[in-house]
Amino acid sequence: MIQAKGMAALKAKEALVPYSFERRNPKDYDVVIDIKYSGICHSDIHMTRDEWGENSNFPMVPGHEIAGVVRTVGSKVTKYKVGDHVGVGCMVDSCRECEHCKAELEQYCIPGNTLTYGGKERDGSAVTQGGYSDVIVVNEDFVLRIPDSLPLDKAAPLLCAGITTYSPLVHWNVGPGKKVAVMGLGGLGHMAVKLAKAMGAEVTVLSQSANKKDDANQLGADHFLNTQSKDVFQKNALQFDLIINTVSSADLNMAAYFGLLKLDGTLVSVGAPEKPLSVHPFPLILMRRNFAGSAIGSIKETQEMLDFCGKHNITPEIELIEPNQVNDAYARVLKSDVRYRFVIDMGKI
Ligand code: NAP
Ligand code: ZN
Ligand code: ZN
Repeated sequence: MIQAKGMAALKAKEALVPYSFERRNPKDYDVVIDIKYSGICHSDIHMTRDEWGENSNFPMVPGHEIAGVVRTVGSKVTKYKVGDHVGVGCMVDSCRECEHCKAELEQYCIPGNTLTYGGKERDGSAVTQGGYSDVIVVNEDFVLRIPDSLPLDKAAPLLCAGITTYSPLVHWNVGPGKKVAVMGLGGLGHMAVKLAKAMGAEVTVLSQSANKKDDANQLGADHFLNTQSKDVFQKNALQFDLIINTVSSADLNMAAYFGLLKLDGTLVSVGAPEKPLSVHPFPLILMRRNFAGSAIGSIKETQEMLDFCGKHNITPEIELIEPNQVNDAYARVLKSDVRYRFVIDMGKI
């Protein structure tokens, strides 16, 4: 076995503490990765607090925005070699046989993909543990190549925040002439702004935090709407082709947001709050609007997104922290005070 060190929640809702554990020895198609950086996604907070009621296996080493360097490879690995810069996102395996896996949409694997942490290995042998650690062992088919032009610390958040926003932007054909709004300027939201701009759209940020206006403009947004201000929803009715909801809370007046969509517009929720959203169908009915969801992205699409970011020099705004600062970082994320992704320097574990 391979010795690993990390940060874990030993029980739901508890602070993360230093934790030693073991990774499997590499099998034929496995890649052993020295983790250099691990991003903090709000999903890690939902998971360690057991807010979703599944995959709540403790002790839990969170982290699914992983960037590192290949340490060794299994005997049959062909895709990677020692020293390569690689990433791992939210999944480390899938059934590989269902209709969706065969269509290279492993994120929608019908029996369920294997989550990077809190999931079960396909053979049921072990609970998976994530990226807030110094080493991970992953089948080569679920490892991504990080382009040379991207620094590893800034590449890490692309593995979840990047792909989760890239995938719906591509799916709903965002490009020149399209008006896109982003609800919530956090980790996912700020990547949605950068990616939608790079695709040529006109981008508006819908934020409850008035003090993020200057940041929104610096990130490339064309407009900023403070959702707390009076009349903002009436004044901007029927404006957008696509709205991406990245808000981590369900405390939202969805009817007001639907009203911002044009005829046939779509609001896609990627935010995954603990509680259900409250939705009345009338604003959907009246303008034939669509309400949709989207989960991360496939391995193929994640590679495409990384290459797109490498080519267009798109990287997240990060705040680099040490492993012992994780609990403070969680508290700031919960206050919507992340600017705009915390990344843990795993070399300091
Ligand atoms: P984050 O960095 O905390 O950003 C969320 C943003 O939502 C906040 O910065 C804030 O932006 C806004 N917000 C928070 N509480 C709010 C409230 N009560 N009312 C209105 N707005 C509020 O989180 P993240 O890492 O981007 O993740 C966002 C959500 O996406 C989480 O629920 C996460 O689990 C989910 N997620 C889903 C997928 C998927 O595959 N679908 C993948 C990754 C993450 P403002 O200050 O600008 O309002
Ligand atoms: Zn995530
Ligand atoms: Zn499958």
